[in-house]
Amino acid sequence: MSANETSPKKNLFQTVLRQFNTAADTINLDPDIRKIVAKPMNEISVNFPVKMDDGRIEIFSGYRVQHNNVLGPFKGGLRYHPAVDLDEVRALAAWMTWKTAVADIPLGGAKGGIQIDPSKYSIRELERITRRFTFALGDNIGPDYDIPAPDVNTNSQIMAWILDTYLQMKSPGERYRSTHVVTGKPIESGGSAGRDKATGQGVVFVIEQWAKDNNFDLTNGTYFVQGFGNVGSWAARLLKKFGTRLVGVEDASGAIINPAGIDPDDLCEYIEKNNYAIAGYPKAEPIDHNEFLRIKADIFIPAALENQITARTAPDLNVRLIAEGANGPTDIEGDRIVQEKGIDLIPDILCNAGGVIVSYFEWLQNKRSEFWELEEIDKKLHRIIINGYKKVTAAAETYKTDWRTAAYIVALRRLERVFKERGIFP
Ligand code: GLU
Repeated sequence: MSANETSPKKNLFQTVLRQFNTAADTINLDPDIRKIVAKPMNEISVNFPVKMDDGRIEIFSGYRVQHNNVLGPFKGGLRYHPAVDLDEVRALAAWMTWKTAVADIPLGGAKGGIQIDPSKYSIRELERITRRFTFALGDNIGPDYDIPAPDVNTNSQIMAWILDTYLQMKSPGERYRSTHVVTGKPIESGGSAGRDKATGQGVVFVIEQWAKDNNFDLTNGTYFVQGFGNVGSWAARLLKKFGTRLVGVEDASGAIINPAGIDPDDLCEYIEKNNYAIAGYPKAEPIDHNEFLRIKADIFIPAALENQITARTAPDLNVRLIAEGANGPTDIEGDRIVQEKGIDLIPDILCNAGGVIVSYFEWLQNKRSEFWELEEIDKKLHRIIINGYKKVTAAAETYKTDWRTAAYIVALRRLERVFKERGIFP
């Protein structure tokens, strides 16, 4: 649940459109389809009052942008962060459309959130804020229409409150078959085995594949990670099994380094007692943000917020691979510099798709009243994400492009086919 606060705010949706246009130009995307997917379908904006613990009323702003549902119901997380606004949510929603299309799962793209610093509120206040937001969204979400999930600063507890509130608003007959209105729920409330670690697991699966393809021995490799929330901490814990050495970590509380290695499990134990902040971890040295990005290692996993790899920071990077655990960590200029430097980059819409892939499994299990074992989940996740990886690397080869553009090409080709088959109503 950590996030780097240094991210400068800029037109994120412009970044999406520029990435999109590069790929659309490369494949000569049908101009009509280009027009359709360049805009989100629906944008919901709600302001709602909540009673605070001291009796005061505060007004909150929440959003849900539904970018596209031609491949299936709208799908995507909800984030609680002060930087949440319509532009950011719009960009994140579009990335979900591309992500589900690359993964080739029958879901569309959406994203939402509340503009809020959750650390400033008590747990009871967060519950009331979440329930009132769910009420304000009403039937704009639904189990076969638009299915939220966790994202930055939201977790399974928040999903359980959304589920409970949503069910209260339904007639008794509808309630029993609506548990799949959110994914990322606690296991007892209909969650899936492996959903918690899913995004980090997906990141590790693609890194493993990259290592295989490049004859790179992960056992002797080093890496550093930005963000030690759900994605960053799980990726680190799962990489431990390969012996890959974690040499630096950064979160909103600061950055730390230890060239001899940081044990991710030990760091997880530490943050649990330290308000989920890495600052003050005794088995590493504190360093500043700029030094952190200059760390010489094999792999960098940005797993925090957007716009971290930019014209300012990209020239300093000293790695072979960037595996984007976060959504949108690299801006357009950053991308160009990374390519010039010859650094491989596994783009967000492929690299962090593990979360939504296991969300899809959770949704299916709920619909069928089934419970799948972790082993089965991991096997299916591996198959889907590595299929995506292979399609993306093949497209990069065919079109002689970078992997981000290649991932967009895979997504746009799939959307283009479906639009052509179905046509436009009326
Ligand atoms: N928030 C995650 C993402 O950005 C997961 C979305 C989901 O599971 O629906 O991919």
